[in-house]
Amino acid sequence: MLDVLIAAHDHPTAAQVLDRVREHQPGIGAATVYRTLSLLVEAGQARVLSLGEGASARYDANVSRHDHVLCVDCGAAMDVAAPLPARALADMASRTGYDLIEYDVQFRGRCPSCNKAHRKQSKTNEKRNRSV
Ligand SMILES: [Zn+2]
Ligand SMILES: [Zn+2]
Repeated sequence: MLDVLIAAHDHPTAAQVLDRVREHQPGIGAATVYRTLSLLVEAGQARVLSLGEGASARYDANVSRHDHVLCVDCGAAMDVAAPLPARALADMASRTGYDLIEYDVQFRGRCPSCNKAHRKQSKTNEKRNRSV
């Protein structure tokens, strides 16, 4: 189970984890897989990410501090490191009065393949507009 998650670098949803586990254990029940996922999260071996409003929870076996680049079109999520300087964190803590425990940064944009598709589409639109 954890192997499936560790092998996945695409931050799968619970449903995607279920599909992948079933490739190895076809008979396994959905409830078992979902329960195991929440146990892994509880045990600190996986994280739940919320990537955008209305998106289903995604699971991440990378539990060290890291940030994400998210594609607004296809939902692809990549791990990146964009650590904030210690001074910025200390400043944030003193400004808010919070004892900061952790943070992560989320960058949103278009992944290379969606970007390509997007450019092609806007080019077609341009042509269409011109011919009108
Ligand atoms: Zn994309
Ligand atoms: Zn991640």
